[in-house]
Amino acid sequence: MTSPESPPPSAPPPPAARDFIRERIAADNASGKYQGRVHTRFPPEPNGYLHVGHAKSICLNFGIARDFAGKCNLRFDDTNPTKEDVEYVDSIQADVRWLGFEWDGLYYASEYFETIYGYAERLIEKGLAYVDEQTADQIRETRGTLTRPGTPSPWRDRPASESLDLLRRMRAGEFEDGRYVLRAKIDMASPNINMRDPTLYRIRHAHHHRTGDAWCIYPTYDFAHGYSDSQEGITHSICTLEFENHRPLYEWLIDVLGLYKPQQIEFARLNLTYTVMSKRKLLHLVQGKHVRGWDDPRMPTIAGMRRRGFPPEALRLFCERIGVAKNESTVDYALLEHCAREVLNKSAPRVMGVLDPLEVTLTNWPEGQVDELDAVNNPEDPQAGTRKVPFAGRLYIERADFMEDPPKKFFRLAPGREVRLRWGYFIKCEEVVKDADGRVTGLRCTYDPATRGGDAPDGRKVKATLHWVSAAHALPAEVRIYEHLFTREDPDQVSEEEQKAGKDWLSNLNPSSLTVMRGCRVEPSLAGAAPGQRVQFERHGYFAVDPDSASDGLVFNRTVSLKDEWQKLQKKGGAEG
Ligand code: ATP
Ligand code: MG
Repeated sequence: MTSPESPPPSAPPPPAARDFIRERIAADNASGKYQGRVHTRFPPEPNGYLHVGHAKSICLNFGIARDFAGKCNLRFDDTNPTKEDVEYVDSIQADVRWLGFEWDGLYYASEYFETIYGYAERLIEKGLAYVDEQTADQIRETRGTLTRPGTPSPWRDRPASESLDLLRRMRAGEFEDGRYVLRAKIDMASPNINMRDPTLYRIRHAHHHRTGDAWCIYPTYDFAHGYSDSQEGITHSICTLEFENHRPLYEWLIDVLGLYKPQQIEFARLNLTYTVMSKRKLLHLVQGKHVRGWDDPRMPTIAGMRRRGFPPEALRLFCERIGVAKNESTVDYALLEHCAREVLNKSAPRVMGVLDPLEVTLTNWPEGQVDELDAVNNPEDPQAGTRKVPFAGRLYIERADFMEDPPKKFFRLAPGREVRLRWGYFIKCEEVVKDADGRVTGLRCTYDPATRGGDAPDGRKVKATLHWVSAAHALPAEVRIYEHLFTREDPDQVSEEEQKAGKDWLSNLNPSSLTVMRGCRVEPSLAGAAPGQRVQFERHGYFAVDPDSASDGLVFNRTVSLKDEWQKLQKKGGAEG
């Protein structure tokens, strides 16, 4: 019985109850702070492919826009031309869409360069910025530390007219990189180092992927980001915790320029076990050929996870499950896999594939006969229907499903023993065929015609059901099995001793993160399967067709096995209280 007050159990909680950010936004709406408007943005720098950490930010920003009937922009934070590229711009858009989101506005910080430059001149005129000619090292040194206040630059009080002239000449390309910078004049004694006259513009003679060679000076992140948020009318500028002590600068710039002010809110970034998430490190893995590319299925990139077979629903579910918090933590990779299984269990059709084939000959099978057996496509989804699977006198089963001399707990095929073949018949092992070296090369079995598709009429039982394929009908395939890319939960963990021996995070790479299985055989219903198609190979796990597939052979990536480590961890945790 449900009382009229309590919502049905399936109704999602109201947005405000879901996390502290939505709670704050709901409060802002209630107080009329932004006239009830909600406008977020996802602001990647196009200097690499997106990873699962970005997925968290995407689900958060686009999810908030959806929950509050607001808007979300995609904005490229492209203020660092030497590291950025259109390849990244394109991949980022593709990945956001693949995750299931569509932006309201598409912007580039570089579109605002002219206006931002104008504001730089205005800051100089107001006596709030100056051109410094200390070297980068001197600036770093005189900025001080947490315990030591900064010391003012000798150029801090140069006349505005002089700074203005220098800034214009910086823009005109008169000086080499690093010769001058524009700095805000705030407070060299501030306890917040970001407020000790932060750099606003630097000289960088570099080609920009959008503005070409129009500029040789570029605004810093803090200057460009706040302006972009303000210009686009963003209400809630959501970012990761490391920007918390940039917030005073974000607000200072907006205040002194008299601009519209969004609310910056920080949350903890996602960290995952057994993986690195810094774009610098991911780039290093790609450039150093430790992986096959940004979309290598072992990479935590969205492109890699897509290629591996993760459905977008699984990533969204994962982001939902981990939630949003204010303190840093590391999420177990097993939870990500658990979410993939949960989604794939409902959606992936079951098929049969034999990864390490052992030939079985049915000695009593009528010569030339082929049976078309009915197989259920997905027991979790009646809508998925059935298919026909051919069965004939020569089959393959998994080599590991047979033991000549089985230990007590092995219930699968052995000499003299009977098992069921999925959707097919009972078979009984009569004879083991071996080569000259004594290696098992095949089995000779008999089948019982009366057991087709079900149980034995005489009620006798078997203890195992094996998957199989018909040797004459099966398709050849290559299967790629992935393990963690790193051997340590925290790949950055390198002991002092290891460091002395010249080791770094790369020495934590897992040498067996990829196992390629060739000579696999899969059922013929997979003929022509398109790259990206996801299936469950019964008893093995979930797999996706890789784009490397060719007409002479399919290639499958194992997304996840069927063994749910996460559930096991939860049960253990529960049992122990
Ligand atoms: P990196 O430090 O690896 O260069 P980044 O944070 O600089 O990554 P951006 O392209 O600037 O990468 O990130 C775009 C958005 O995604 C930012 O708002 C950032 O806070 C967010 N983001 C990046 N990494 C994570 C993460 N691991 N978890 C949650 N959000 C993240
Ligand atoms: Mg960044």
